[in-house]
Order: sequence, then structure tokens, then C-alpha cells
Amino acid sequence: MKRAFVAGWPISHSLSPHLHGYWLRQYGIDGIYEAIAVEPVEFTSFLQSAAASGYLGGNITIPHKLQAFALCRKVDSAAARLGAVNTVWMESGLLCGANTDSYGFAASLDAAAPEWRECGAALVLGAGGAARAVVHAIAEGGVRAITVANRTAAKAHQLARLFDSGVTVGEWENRNRIAAGCGLIVNTTALGMSGQPPLDIDLGDVSRPAVVADIVYNPLETPLLRAARAKGLAAVDGLGMLMHQAAPGFESWFGKRPEVTQGLRRHLEPLLSG
Ligand code: NAP
Repeated sequence: MKRAFVAGWPISHSLSPHLHGYWLRQYGIDGIYEAIAVEPVEFTSFLQSAAASGYLGGNITIPHKLQAFALCRKVDSAAARLGAVNTVWMESGLLCGANTDSYGFAASLDAAAPEWRECGAALVLGAGGAARAVVHAIAEGGVRAITVANRTAAKAHQLARLFDSGVTVGEWENRNRIAAGCGLIVNTTALGMSGQPPLDIDLGDVSRPAVVADIVYNPLETPLLRAARAKGLAAVDGLGMLMHQAAPGFESWFGKRPEVTQGLRRHLEPLLSG
């Protein structure tokens, strides 16, 4: 039986076993995908012995993505840029890693609002780990003007330094004004997530055909997306990114490129508590 894992701390909340389990059943693959709680102090030995324990690879989630990057002998270009790995597999005995969050975000936008590639300018709210992947995706998608605004400005500057001149920092307090000039607005902060206050932003001056994306997926319809829909803007939720980022890993461990379908979405939606 083919075995893969998702390792994080904590891990009980992870949707990944449901997602990969759905695909394993759909394609009739004799495989298993297990959630494993790995404390930070145990992560290095866990990952280094994963192959010997019978795993073909797995996903890495918070707080281990940076440590996984450091342990990989070969990484893809997104992981190299972001310094973080969320997917690992073995190749000729070497631990290899990728960051598929960027791919997942771009694929989700391509499926729901392909016009994003013509957006001209983008505003990314937040500067955490997920924001890095989102900025990478938008830059790789050909958007030449990307503004990052974050409550803690120093983190936005740190993020912008990872990229070329197309990525600049805007003041968090000016987010409404900046949003008005953008064709793509993305929330990567935790605001709007269940248990968190909503993101305070006014879309009043944002004009069609702008695309508004929220990578928060719990709840699926955040106050930001509700406001975007009410204004007739394209609104893209965070579940698409979660589903699409999983596909490359599944293919590398189980040998089948899985499809992201409405059936998968319907399977996952009831599992969201928000
Ligand atoms: P992170 O590294 O902890 O970053 C959190 C971000 O939220 C930071 O920019 C932080 O700003 C901001 N923030 C938190 N509380 C805030 C507040 N009260 N006011 C203003 N800004 C606030 O987290 P992450 O890993 O990037 O994840 C961020 C969100 O993305 C989470 O909701 C997560 O579930 C979601 N996510 C979704 C996917 C997906 O596949 N859809 C993938 C990854 C993450 P400061 O720097 O000022 O603290």
C-alpha cells in the first residue's frame, strides 16, 4: 500500500486527509494518507526517517515549512524563492521539496476568475507565510505592479525584498485608496476567519471587472467576499487554493494527477465549521 502523510503541530484540524482520501477512493488507489502530529523538536528526525518508515512523501504544514525547506536536498523554484516547503517526496534516495501553495492559488484563480491575469495592479493584504506564496503566484502570472500592505509594515518590507522591483509596500492605513486602483485584491491575513474580526476594508471605489480573493476558507464566504459579490465583483474563496495545492503532491506519491471538481468541493464544504 502506498503511504503519504501530512505533518504539523497541531494537525487535528487539517482537511488534507479528507481531500486525499476522497481522491484515493475516487481513483481506486490502494493508498493511505495519514495526519501525523509532529512536535517541532521531533520534526527533523521524523522527516529524515519518513522514507525508512514506508512513506513515499507528504505534506508539511505549520509550523514546519521552513525546517522542511532546510532539510530538502532539491527544491522547486517556488520553494527556493519562498524558503518554505509544503510538499516532499523522495527521488533517487534524496529528499525533494516543493511549495505548491503558489501553484494552488494561481490555479484556483484561473478556474474561478481567469481575467485576474489582466488585472494590471494587485493589492495583497498581509505579509505572513501565505502572503509570500500569493505574491509569488501573482508575480509569476505576469502582474507587474503588486502592492503589499500589512499591519506590521516591517514584515511587508521583508516580503517585498524577496521579489524584484514589481513588488512595493503600501501603508496598511491606505488600503482603501490602494484597492481602488487595483484589478485584483487578495486577503491573506487571518482576518475574516471564524473567531477573528472581519477585515476592515471599503470596496466602494473598486470598479468592475476587479477580482477579490480571500484565502481564508473557514468560513467559505467571508465578509470581504460577501461585500465583493454585493458590488458585482468576482469573488474567489480560499477552498480552491487548498484543493489545487494538493494535486501535485497526490500525483507524485500516488501516480495519478487528480482533478479538482465540484464533487470534491461538495465533499469538503460540510467539514468546514465556520
Ligand atoms: P501568518 O504567517 O501567521 O500571517 C498572518 C497574517 O495576518 C499577518 O500578515 C498578520 O499581520 C495578519 N493579521 C493577523 N491578525 C491581524 C489583525 N488583527 N489585524 C491585521 N492583520 C492581522 O499566517 P499565514 O500562514 O500566512 O495564514 C494566513 C491566513 O491564510 C490564515 O487564515 C490561513 O488559514 C489562510 N491560509 C489559507 C490557505 C489556503 O489554502 N486557502 C493556505 C495557507 C493559509 P502582522 O504581520 O501584523 O501580525
